[in-house]
Amino acid sequence: MVIDTLMVIGRGNPPWLPSFLSVVALCLSSICDCPQSRSDFHSWQTGMSSAGAFAFSSALPTPSLLDFTPLSGYNGGMNTSPRTEPGIGKGIDLHAHTTASDGSLSPAELVEKAHRLGLAALAVTDHDTLGGLAEAQSAAGRVGLDLVPGVELSVEDERGRFHLLGYGFDLENEALGRTLADLRRSRAARNARMGDRMAALGLPVTMDDVRAEAGEDAEVIARPHFARALMKHGVVASVAEAFDRYLSTGKPLYLPKEVLTPRDAIALLHGAGGVAVMAHPGLVLLDAPALADRVASLAQDAGLDGIEAYYSQHTLEDTDRFLFLAARLGLLVTGGSDFHGLAKPHVPLGVVFGGKPAPPALLDSLRARLASQNPILTPANRR
Ligand SMILES: [Zn+2]
Ligand SMILES: [Zn+2]
Repeated sequence: MVIDTLMVIGRGNPPWLPSFLSVVALCLSSICDCPQSRSDFHSWQTGMSSAGAFAFSSALPTPSLLDFTPLSGYNGGMNTSPRTEPGIGKGIDLHAHTTASDGSLSPAELVEKAHRLGLAALAVTDHDTLGGLAEAQSAAGRVGLDLVPGVELSVEDERGRFHLLGYGFDLENEALGRTLADLRRSRAARNARMGDRMAALGLPVTMDDVRAEAGEDAEVIARPHFARALMKHGVVASVAEAFDRYLSTGKPLYLPKEVLTPRDAIALLHGAGGVAVMAHPGLVLLDAPALADRVASLAQDAGLDGIEAYYSQHTLEDTDRFLFLAARLGLLVTGGSDFHGLAKPHVPLGVVFGGKPAPPALLDSLRARLASQNPILTPANRR
């Protein structure tokens, strides 16, 4: 694993890249159904710098995949025409959402888009649901794309919250299916209370409007759907403004949802034959030493398998630091864009870092880990 991780490390980035990427990262607000906000991200970065958190960066070579090749004319992944959509080559993207949760493309549309872009593999990782996977798998079979079933869970304990990605589990696992259904029920109850709050605030948006934004295939209604409904009804000018004024933590429409503890969520994924990976560690609201300590104890005490070191909103320094951390702890490394389509139009599919997708070797390592953990599962249901 350490060797796999180190294989993707090299040299050769232009000197302006780190500052350019920092500016880009600060311009991006986190408007998927994540707990973080742009200001949170900014203060996290500032805190990191003052804590000397980049001490390892100068000693580390930078990942060769970060050689920056701007995609001229690339429009954020919103154009679905194969003739005008530039390809991005044979890399992978292990983090993307569909209309089964808060993405704007159906599972089949997402898979077709990944295929047109030339991705070698794609993971569908909807929030709290496996509902998009069957359609994604059959579309992937049609176009010959390597589809990795996944899921994204919110987790929290006394040390804080973060998102956890699960991969390679048995799609028929009963405990996993039951727990996800419970989480969706609890989320629906939270949404209804948010609807009551919208009415109490006199906002001209109903839960029917919010549901219309999610579409009839959605198994999960999330805050981006509220944001789009608020925008459509003229309450706010943008999804980002909806989060800033109403939906982020502490704002008038924000209500926490019931979540699993990291330990329970990891055990659930392991019980289903899968692996558990901390999503976008750069958006976790801890300074660098505290995050490294958190990841280490999750790995040691709860069995965390990996971290999403390559992520569309990570800076060069973030990525260096997380690759180093993963190598030190013997953790898997994954990489994903967190593509949501219209819900996060600034995040293109397949663009994980430096304008490129993640390296295919990451998926080989992930599958090797799955095979060593679950020799009994068939390749078909642990892909
Ligand atoms: Zn997330
Ligand atoms: Zn996500």
